[in-house]
Amino acid sequence: MAPEGPAVAADLPTSLPALPAYGESSLADLASSLLASLGVAGEANSLRLADADRVCLLVVDGLGWELLREHPAAAPFLSELAVSGRPLTAGFPATTATNMASLGTGLPPGQHGVLGYRVAVPGEARLLNAMHWDAGVDPVAWQPRPTIFERAAAAGVAAYRVSHAWFRKTGLFIATMRGAEYVNANTFGALAGEAAAVLRRSDRALAMVYHGELDATGHVFGCSSDAWRYHLGHVDKLAEQLVGALPPGAALYVTADHGMVDVPPQDRVDADAVPALRDGVALLGGEPRARHVYAVPGAAGDVLAAWRAVLGHRAWVVSRDEAIAEGWFGPVDDWLVPRIGDVVAAPAGPFAIVASEAEPKESALIGMHGSLTPADQLVPLLTFSAI
Ligand SMILES: [Zn+2]
Repeated sequence: MAPEGPAVAADLPTSLPALPAYGESSLADLASSLLASLGVAGEANSLRLADADRVCLLVVDGLGWELLREHPAAAPFLSELAVSGRPLTAGFPATTATNMASLGTGLPPGQHGVLGYRVAVPGEARLLNAMHWDAGVDPVAWQPRPTIFERAAAAGVAAYRVSHAWFRKTGLFIATMRGAEYVNANTFGALAGEAAAVLRRSDRALAMVYHGELDATGHVFGCSSDAWRYHLGHVDKLAEQLVGALPPGAALYVTADHGMVDVPPQDRVDADAVPALRDGVALLGGEPRARHVYAVPGAAGDVLAAWRAVLGHRAWVVSRDEAIAEGWFGPVDDWLVPRIGDVVAAPAGPFAIVASEAEPKESALIGMHGSLTPADQLVPLLTFSAI
């Protein structure tokens, strides 16, 4: 019998995942801290935000902390605020649906249950796209906890959502932002003007302003493109105009739902072209930088081993139990556990797990986000108080 050879080091990522700071300085904590700053009882002010009668939160989709710090010339106003600002962590996955849900509820993903861009509907052999929703899924049953807008209104604080009309009455809005009065604002000028107008309507008010086009520009052209940089200049002007329009005593906070990285064509593995990534897989959820992999019954262990073998050092690949135990989603309510993939995979660098046949549009994007790297996770918290 041959003696056993030396153990071969597994091909694993060399860095550790940048786990969200749930309960301390994540987007969920920002949401509850905003309510606390407005005097809403029972809300934790873990970010120690100053008391205010009126608060405007500008959410710039895709404006990662690292990206902002890399572009001082394109965003002079925001960069000046960033000198006294700080990074927060988004939440996993670092994707719009999940983190707008954290901002809308003040809860980590494991408690609001919007656990990714596409997640399995437990008991049904299909995925729910959280951005486009699905008439067969009741948004209130999917996310039954009270939103921050409902909690604000119950405490006498007027609550508004100022955003493009496209997002009005979507399933995601009802699930995570119901209780807010929706104000249509389809242009930069309308965002600033309407936010200022609604804040003046009440003595105590919260307005969440959302701008989505910086992220869209980054997806198509990349976040290192001229197009992205030029768009950032417009976002900078929006923030400056909002500050100028705020009523006295109001506070403006600027944040984002996630960052972004550009993924070169050679740094992508195509799950639709590698049979080992599809064997035993019932549903492939998530998105290229945050995968929920749902196994056929009995195959979870084999799927985990295969994904680890194929992805090696390029991704953190864990079982559902490991993802929960390590705190990827924050504390997870029992009834929400089946929405998490049997295997969860997050690229450890500028890498992506695309699916060219099942997801041709998403697989062709240049800029992507979702993972647990600082580029995905860190978002700004910038503050301005009007006197
Ligand atoms: Zn995006």
